[in-house]
Amino acid sequence: MKSGENKYSRSVYIDFIDRLKQIYVAMDQAYNTAAGHYGFACAGCRDNCCRTRFYHHTVIEYTYIIEGLKTLTPLKQNEVKSRAMIVVDKVAGADDNGEAVRLMCPLNFDELCILYPYRPMICRLHGIPHELKKPGQKTFFGPGCETFDQQCDPKSYFKFERTPFYRELAMLESEVLQATGFESKIKMTIAEMIVSHANGMGHGATSKFKGRFFCNPCALLNTLMLKIKT
Ligand code: SF4
Repeated sequence: MKSGENKYSRSVYIDFIDRLKQIYVAMDQAYNTAAGHYGFACAGCRDNCCRTRFYHHTVIEYTYIIEGLKTLTPLKQNEVKSRAMIVVDKVAGADDNGEAVRLMCPLNFDELCILYPYRPMICRLHGIPHELKKPGQKTFFGPGCETFDQQCDPKSYFKFERTPFYRELAMLESEVLQATGFESKIKMTIAEMIVSHANGMGHGATSKFKGRFFCNPCALLNTLMLKIKT
């Protein structure tokens, strides 16, 4: 290998992101078809699902959220970061006291997601009844959200299978981890991702990578981004 040459190139990174986008397009199409069957349209609600503590498990989705974050003005990024820090602190305090809290995702402004095209899988699939097949287990059937139950008739179930999307995302994630040398999984909320990235260190799990400790996703970004610049 020549000096400065690197097996991770910008095209590798872009390919990962492009594949994630393709998975998202397929998800959105399947979701819209199912939602269309019920005549379900989400226009925000009192129990906004953006207050749910969703955990996200893939570094590639973390990376894409950070890509989205970088499209915001520096002022907006700071505002989002401040909101994320408040959420992370309040959640930690509530957990310490054994209390349940529902706090708005720091990316939700006036009932709208400001990074809607970048939102992760769980945000995309939430709301309508679905099924999921895990190897060696019975098919799991999940309900729609409260607003769905108010608006629609869940008895007229329209098959909406999450399984292929979970599988494709897991396969992509596996390749990303392999390409970057990562060994562990992540489990982070959107607020934790934003704070983690802003600080360059982990509210999520840390892992040793090439002799240095990083938050997992930040290590991935460092790995890929540094190589992109070469
Ligand atoms: S990322 Fe967007 S859609 Fe997902 S919880 Fe946050 S505001 Fe809502």
